[in-house]
Amino acid sequence: MTSTCILKVAINVPLSREFDYLPADRGAPAPPGSRVLVPFGRRRQVGVVMAHSDSSELPASKMRHSLATLDDKPLLGDDDLWLIRFASNYYHHPIGEVVAAALPTLLRQGKALYPRVACVAITDAGESVDSGMLAKRAPRQAELLDLLRDAGGNGIDVESLTEQLPNWRRAAKTLLEKGLISRFEAVADEAQPAATCPGEPGPELDEYQRQALSSIRKAKGFEVFVLDGVTGSGKTEIYLQLMREVLDHDKQVLVLVPEIGLTPQLVSRLSSRLGVAPAVLHSRLTDTARLSSWRSARSGAAKLVVGTRSAIFTPLPDVGLIVIDEEHDHSFKQQEGLRYSARDLAIARAKHHDIAVVLGSATPTLEMLQHCAAGNFQRVVLPERAGGAKPPTLRLVDLSRAAASDGLSDVLLKSIRQHLLAGGQALIFLNRRGFAPTLICASCGHVSECERCDSRMTVHAKDKQLRCHHCGATRILDTSCSACGSEVRPLGEGTQRLEQALCEHFPDHRIERIDSDSTQKKGAIDAALALAEQGGADILVGTQMLSKGHHFPQLTLVGIVNADQGLFGTDFRSAERLAQSIVQVAGRAGRESRQGEVIIQTAFPDNPFWQRLINGGYGQVANDALAEREATRWPPFTRLALIRSAAHQKHDAHAFLENTRRRIESYQVGQLRVLGPVDAPMARRAGRYRAQLLLQSADRKALHAVLGRLRPALENDTAARKVRWSIDVDPIELF
Ligand code: ADP
Ligand code: ZN
Ligand code: ZN
Repeated sequence: MTSTCILKVAINVPLSREFDYLPADRGAPAPPGSRVLVPFGRRRQVGVVMAHSDSSELPASKMRHSLATLDDKPLLGDDDLWLIRFASNYYHHPIGEVVAAALPTLLRQGKALYPRVACVAITDAGESVDSGMLAKRAPRQAELLDLLRDAGGNGIDVESLTEQLPNWRRAAKTLLEKGLISRFEAVADEAQPAATCPGEPGPELDEYQRQALSSIRKAKGFEVFVLDGVTGSGKTEIYLQLMREVLDHDKQVLVLVPEIGLTPQLVSRLSSRLGVAPAVLHSRLTDTARLSSWRSARSGAAKLVVGTRSAIFTPLPDVGLIVIDEEHDHSFKQQEGLRYSARDLAIARAKHHDIAVVLGSATPTLEMLQHCAAGNFQRVVLPERAGGAKPPTLRLVDLSRAAASDGLSDVLLKSIRQHLLAGGQALIFLNRRGFAPTLICASCGHVSECERCDSRMTVHAKDKQLRCHHCGATRILDTSCSACGSEVRPLGEGTQRLEQALCEHFPDHRIERIDSDSTQKKGAIDAALALAEQGGADILVGTQMLSKGHHFPQLTLVGIVNADQGLFGTDFRSAERLAQSIVQVAGRAGRESRQGEVIIQTAFPDNPFWQRLINGGYGQVANDALAEREATRWPPFTRLALIRSAAHQKHDAHAFLENTRRRIESYQVGQLRVLGPVDAPMARRAGRYRAQLLLQSADRKALHAVLGRLRPALENDTAARKVRWSIDVDPIELF
């Protein structure tokens, strides 16, 4: 008798275990990697078969049957299941939730890999219509007809159509009635391998670039390269050359970029240079578009896959190279749910596939630098800007002496004027959106605070609102104090205030603000960045959105309005962070022939940080910070995990962590420090009290052994249900 086959199924619930099911009544048991529909409690759930087994802890009488197999062939291959398991083990996160994070929404919901989609296409009758004539009477109909004419016989699926022409449906109705277009259902095609063309030639590499390229090329199999190249040193040119070679061997390349780094400019640079259209994956795509990119990566049709964080989970049957651009960027770490680092998973994945991974940055994280120093990774340096561009000069303006109005010192204003006169563009950087961070009463000093968070309300003057940037709460912007009735006024600056002040100072220039408020509308970021790139805006004002890898040819001046926010941070990463953010935004200046200048406004010009940064650059700050971390035993010299809790009652949040602490102590593991529980930096947020417990160890294995025992214990602890808790391995936000 053949032994029974038991399916080990990952289900999207916050429990670490896999669930055992008997195969569906009909057909062969669903192989590992395929989705199944299973009964779960009183519901039905989509799960993924992780493995088969011939035994279960569950008595056979209690085991239920899977209801259906949702995939003809396994959706995920062994390598994909390996990555999911790795992430689940490393981040101590329930496997079903990892699977959910790895799959596009539609697949998670159980939709077919190749779904039937509604499409619209032009008919022969439609082809013969002169849309120029039609445009006079019915412009929208003409527009739709033109779109469909360009699309050809296969037509366009309705979701893409909605994206291109939001109000197409009314026009379509008339055109349908006239028989000029038709509607039908089609099965989404297996994408054909994208046509390749030779690709445009790039600049001839300089000596540094050639050396860098040749060291990376020498890699046989797994190796991690930290491409440490100053801003504008031509790192992207190196990626392009490496990618070209991998593509020529018919292998796939995965490129991960920061959230905001994935712009049409980057995509078109990659595709024109490499001669292939990349499959793009990011959070702003529609579900259908996302599935379609995922599908072509999975089938191997897409040779080049470019995406943000979650693209690290994309199946890639022939992967030959992974590139992480701007390795230091925080958006590679997910801060909720599965708290993974896409960069770290990329390294694990490269090792698994025995391929090279290239991590590029002008400001590599200390973690990566330390790996290089220890000989685990190879550091490849590009010390100079490419193409003859010079590094920007850095200058401090002492805010404690200089007169400043609306946050802009006279020195900075004068400099803006000079650069504009010389035909340059200026970027004014302030990492704080809104009009002002505080609303204060001039007479009693009362400050408007959020009712649900330990934080101040930000003034949004244009919308006449106060907004909490932490929980999203809004209130009407009062003109009088709620405590004493006197007049209130906004205190401090946000990007909106800077924009307004700059408009007053430079009425004849075009000023463009770029922050998460100004770019909420679909396509707004892309449009604003394109405008900035083409020189359509003279002064750019914005947050860190502006600092990420962009290349604005005309930009010659960068003004950093308030650099002091990070100077006295309590996080052990403060200096590293501040240096990264300044060097990155400074790196936007003078990337072509004209010399760039950077003006940094600070009220603390004597702080030793500035001398380090100005004289020794990021490298010096990094070296000093590494020495300090080693002395104080912070990462990368130790490993951390943070356990967070949140509850409506402060007591519950703390009691949970007190218990957790005792539980960990009962494991009696040496080499482990347990710090806390303490209040989270913002103890109350969105009406919940938050606390945290920090685990620190020089021995990664010891730390993980503790977490491995802790997680299931917490899942089974009924007292833990009073709080929301999470485990964050290698946290990057601590205090
Ligand atoms: P990074 O990625 O390091 O910021 P890029 O690769 O974007 O730098 O290069 C910065 C600019 O220098 C781009 O305009 C690029 O075309 C140009 N560039 C790069 N390498 C060279 C080179 N060898 N010769 C001339 N120009 C170059
Ligand atoms: Zn008052
Ligand atoms: Zn709030």
